[in-house]
Amino acid sequence: MTADLIEEGPYRFRIEPTGAMRVPGVVFASRELLEPAENAIEQVVHVAMLPGVVEASYAMPDIHLGYGFPIGGVAATDPREGGVVSPGGVGFDISCGVRLLAADIDASGLAPVLRDLMDGLDPVIPRGMGKGAVWHLPGRRELTGILTGGARYAVERGHGDERDLRRCEDAGAVAGADPGRVSERAVERGARQVGSLGSGNHFLEVQRVAEVYDADVAGAFGLRPGQVCVMIHCGSRGLGHQICTDHVRAMEAAMPRHGIEVPDRQLACAPVESAEGRAYLGAMAAAANYGRANRQLLAQAARRVFRRVAGARLDLVYDVSHNLAKLEEHGVDGERRRLCVHRKGATRALPPGHPDLPPDLREAGQPVLIPGTMGTSSYVLTGVPGGPAFASTCHGAGRVRSRHQAARGVSGKELRAELEERGIAVRPSSWRGLAEEAPDAYKDVSAVVEAGEGAGLCRKVARLVPLGVVKG
Ligand code: 5GP
Ligand code: MN
Ligand code: MN
Repeated sequence: MTADLIEEGPYRFRIEPTGAMRVPGVVFASRELLEPAENAIEQVVHVAMLPGVVEASYAMPDIHLGYGFPIGGVAATDPREGGVVSPGGVGFDISCGVRLLAADIDASGLAPVLRDLMDGLDPVIPRGMGKGAVWHLPGRRELTGILTGGARYAVERGHGDERDLRRCEDAGAVAGADPGRVSERAVERGARQVGSLGSGNHFLEVQRVAEVYDADVAGAFGLRPGQVCVMIHCGSRGLGHQICTDHVRAMEAAMPRHGIEVPDRQLACAPVESAEGRAYLGAMAAAANYGRANRQLLAQAARRVFRRVAGARLDLVYDVSHNLAKLEEHGVDGERRRLCVHRKGATRALPPGHPDLPPDLREAGQPVLIPGTMGTSSYVLTGVPGGPAFASTCHGAGRVRSRHQAARGVSGKELRAELEERGIAVRPSSWRGLAEEAPDAYKDVSAVVEAGEGAGLCRKVARLVPLGVVKG
């Protein structure tokens, strides 16, 4: 089935509700961006059928096929109307997200030591399938601290400072984590991986601010042209993956009891206010905290190398997830309602003045961090007043070619040579993994950001280009 897409505004397409759809579908994109994502449109339609879904099933300009929900999908449900939570609406890498740090050094000042810096980062950023991690946990108690305290716990244990926490979504720790809902298997997988990137699509990148679109907002974020930045993209590793697996299974079994039918098994879900719904949200919050601690520890490792090699300091710009469900208040049909907002491959983008922003960002809005590829640009955006889709926007460029296709197109060694030729230092963990991440496996991130801005989801603040990448 291919749904009819009606162009209803700039970069905005609508799918009228038909059949079991409870709300319309709304896709923010250009025709060019939609073309490779055609197979994900049916997923937008399916999400519109979930019990308690309100307003619309949204898709961001980087939409592509995902597990149940599309990647780039945003949907909110009302728990008071039997609204559900679905692990597929968060994804397997729970709380995968991006952290950006700004250095007190310019790219020209770093140039003479860039190679040394990359050689310094290479061995201290654990990544790939191996078991290395920044933090070797002495016991389960320490892991429980991470699951309930997130980046706050890492800072309390000496890994960072208070200012870091002010620049983290939710001040570094999500409330409501319930480690009791995290299986032994998930704990086992997670305990060995605290402070590690994971595989291919995850990275630590040294970047340069190439362009600033709004100097005032960039200034409030701590960014200026020419400056060096560090972008970290990773999530909750095996722990989050196992939690997703466990709870999809539990919900699948419970759906008949709740009288829920879904058009795709991958959309397994349970009412937010049910035992299974609460159990998932408690475990999901624990994984979200693990993800934040993970990024905090990797940032600390990068800070040590920057200090030693370049005598430079790294200040946190922001840390935000792009795979999460959150209970948030939003206006729907002129009424304030508490909703369960799923963002899967989508980034929260709070507008200026939002009360959840720290005082020093209140006027500017939330920094929205958008990785592109290791060979092109990445972006810093901000939220806009009255933005649609529950204050959300894209999360990256979005894949167009499968890992398999990408690896057939180029070898890892060729790709590294190409990038090095262009002055981008590459520190891979595997040749195959590198090839799977070839820049042409992704959509054009600039076109994605253009569509997001054109649709009124966000505003551009700065563009960053890679100087060196430590690849997962
Ligand atoms: P995901 O969370 O969907 O795995 O990835 C988010 C985005 O990260 C992708 O859509 C892609 O645009 C971006 N990305 C993947 N690898 C790299 C990289 O090495 N460097 C940068 N800057 N972005 C990347
Ligand atoms: Mn991830
Ligand atoms: Mn991610």
